[in-house]
Amino acid sequence: MTAIPQERRLVTAIPGPKSQELQARRIATVAGGVGSTMPVFAARAGGGVLEDVDGNRLIDFGSGIAVTTVGNSAEAVVRRASAQLADFTHTCFMVTPYEGYVAVCEQLAELTPGDHAKKSALFNSGAEAVENAVKIARIHTKRQAVVVFDHGYHGRTNLTMALTSKNMPYKNGFGPFAPEIYRVPVAYPYRWPTGAENCGAEASAQAIDQISKQIGAENVAAIIIEPVLGEGGFIEPAKGFLPALAAFAKDNGIVFVADEIQSGFCRTGQWFACENEGIVPDLITTAKGIAGGLPLAAVTGRAEIMDAAHSGGLGGTYGGNPVACAAALGAIETMKELDLPAKAVHIEQIMKPRLAAMQEKYDVIGDVRGRGGMIAIELVKDRTTKEPAPEATAALAKACHTEGLLVLVTGTYGNVLRFLPPLVIGDDLLNEGLDILEQALAGI
Ligand SMILES: *Cc1c(COP(=O)(O)O)cnc(C)c1O
Repeated sequence: MTAIPQERRLVTAIPGPKSQELQARRIATVAGGVGSTMPVFAARAGGGVLEDVDGNRLIDFGSGIAVTTVGNSAEAVVRRASAQLADFTHTCFMVTPYEGYVAVCEQLAELTPGDHAKKSALFNSGAEAVENAVKIARIHTKRQAVVVFDHGYHGRTNLTMALTSKNMPYKNGFGPFAPEIYRVPVAYPYRWPTGAENCGAEASAQAIDQISKQIGAENVAAIIIEPVLGEGGFIEPAKGFLPALAAFAKDNGIVFVADEIQSGFCRTGQWFACENEGIVPDLITTAKGIAGGLPLAAVTGRAEIMDAAHSGGLGGTYGGNPVACAAALGAIETMKELDLPAKAVHIEQIMKPRLAAMQEKYDVIGDVRGRGGMIAIELVKDRTTKEPAPEATAALAKACHTEGLLVLVTGTYGNVLRFLPPLVIGDDLLNEGLDILEQALAGI
């Protein structure tokens, strides 16, 4: 059990004096390009609570962006990572390997969709995993083009900036970008011009038509998609869209890559979001939730594709660090023991009806969507025009923050409030967080 009391507590204004002092030091020394959602400095965290340096306890609806799925400093993560820290901290897997790395790859083979032979390679960050998925798909297919989608997000390194769709803040001024990246429409049900019912079929037809006519299927190495789009605004592609693209990829020898960095590891109520429509991707990228907060990422996929790269072609000094691997084994053990996919479904069952009731009451909520512990509301100025309401979204987030509820803003139009609680959060905290949101809605 976590030591930190599972209750919200405000003892100063947000941010408090100690946080403000640290913020002044931070501004003097930390590069301005690195932003923060809230200027409160963390002291400790666990379960569904984050305590700041002034002693305020916030309800955590962010999980450090879908990372601390098992809760902060989860018991098994701390136990296994601490033991590993004491044994050795690093040898470099490319110099002398160790069991933890292999054990994580075994778990990934077991947990990811499909019963084909699978292999994995481990890295430090999600962006690095996506870059390596592209390398692997290219060497396997001997093709170069990579297809990504409107509203997609894949990271901030040079190649992944090119894969990412949103200019501000991710790309603006940071070019030139990598070549041979092509963006096609995604099935965004809420904003599909002819309505949500037609969205899956029409969007997949459009995407496939563009790939065929503008790139040529025979030139495409990989199609990369988030099964639930994260930074783009928690967009669940309309039913039929993902299966159509996966089938098109299969028919044309294209590597289908599911970027499950945000949606994976129990977040949506299944181990991986692509299971929702029975998709078996050729490659799957994971990070965020995989290791309870330690930096670890992976590419997992069909053995024959994963083995296409020559020895020494993949890797990195720290990739699959032994402490991060130990943490991952602890996180995965926790997910299994506590049945976190079921816990995510339970969270959805509490959140969705309450958010739907708020939508009835407040016109500003245009859409309620998401699955499991990956839920969002999209805010609009007008329900008919669906004009995005980024100002109201920012004001709502700020009102929640002031009351001690940590929420994150997302979406291409900056008008989506997303909820990513640790899946171990208690029902009381979850409901209290929703109460705060409801009060904040009344005030904006
Ligand atoms: C966060 C994220 C990434 C990038 O991961 P980093 O660890 O920040 O590099 C890539 N893809 C998706 C879907 C993400 O949510």
